[in-house]
Amino acid sequence: MHHTPADTPSFPSAPSPTPPVIVLGAGVIGLTTAIRLAESGRRVEIVARAFSPHTTSDVAAAVWYPFRAGPAAAVARWALRSYAVLGALAADPATGVAIVEGREYAHDPVPGEPWHDHVNGFRLLPPGDVPPPFRHGIAFRAPVVQMPRYLGWLRERAAALGVAFRMHEVDADALAGLLAAGAAVVNCTGLGARELVGDGTLYAIRGQIVRVAPGHATHFVQATRPPQPVTYVIPRADCTVLGGSTDVGREDLAVDPAEAAAIRARCIALMPALADAAILGHAVGLRPGRDEVRLEREDVGAGVIVHCYGHGGAGVTLSWGCAEDVAALLSGVSNRPRPPIA
Ligand SMILES: Cc1cc2nc3c(=O)[nH]c(=O)nc-3n(C[C@H](O)[C@H](O)[C@H](O)COP(=O)(O)OP(=O)(O)OC[C@H]3O[C@@H](n4cnc5c(N)ncnc54)[C@H](O)[C@@H]3O)c2cc1C
Repeated sequence: MHHTPADTPSFPSAPSPTPPVIVLGAGVIGLTTAIRLAESGRRVEIVARAFSPHTTSDVAAAVWYPFRAGPAAAVARWALRSYAVLGALAADPATGVAIVEGREYAHDPVPGEPWHDHVNGFRLLPPGDVPPPFRHGIAFRAPVVQMPRYLGWLRERAAALGVAFRMHEVDADALAGLLAAGAAVVNCTGLGARELVGDGTLYAIRGQIVRVAPGHATHFVQATRPPQPVTYVIPRADCTVLGGSTDVGREDLAVDPAEAAAIRARCIALMPALADAAILGHAVGLRPGRDEVRLEREDVGAGVIVHCYGHGGAGVTLSWGCAEDVAALLSGVSNRPRPPIA
């Protein structure tokens, strides 16, 4: 990872190129951030130890919904910005993003959230429109994202903007060396930031899903509030995702068959037509849990690092808003700006 003079070809007559911003991580946060930085005219290199389909982001359901992430005010702002961008991307089927009608059910009244007034089609459901054992509910339209198709699209978009990619694991010593050499780095390593920057406040929230054949669910449904385990049905073109689980501190990635059966049973109770849907597969991912997303700039020696990790159960939901904040924090140096996607 260290940049040595030998890494950089020298052409005495040409001006030396601006060194790239190094984005660590190629999940939804790293890719989105790289795109926004490249659109603002920065040279960018993504360095990651794993790419799609081997990231947590590939496992995401993925519905736009601010879940298990803080702080509330910033999350609402990041989420609504992403709602707008994902909504625009849904016009192009190649992105894998679609706008889907959905519902949230709860035993108790659904508490008001800052985003409720700003999403399309939001309404409180009348009691007669909520299936037992639930008694309350809301309806709204939201982007649903086919992962990993979307990650592939993001990567292509980044490449078209000139972003370079390198598969490489960066450890704390290598990071210190980069910063000492004056590099600009964005830390989008998700749960990997625990070791990379020694963040003991970051923890895994294990999530398991079942993928079943598409076509049996027409809208998304979720029940994310106690007393029952988190349950959701997310219809996509490639599959319908049944979830879920939120095991804090559990880190095994093996599929738990008993958990899979329980998830499927809860989802069929929510939407009986799912009983006929063939099971396509199972997946487990470790959400990067943190009480608050860490999005801040640190000047370290001659270098600068912007941290952007800890998005919990909402990395897709927060991605575009966070990427714009990262770009703003690094806006001191820029070359040719390009128009953003949306
Ligand atoms: C079952 C499940 C369902 C979910 N559903 C949704 C949903 O519906 N909506 C939603 O918004 N979110 C959802 N999420 C949450 C979402 O998946 C995460 O918030 C998101 O993936 C985090 O993205 P990330 O880019 O930070 O992390 P990751 O996708 O984990 O990417 C981290 C990247 O950093 C790299 N990396 C790590 N350490 C290093 C290192 N030392 N050196 C180099 N590279 C490194 C990794 O290889 C990877 O490329 C769900 C998660 C799970 C598990």
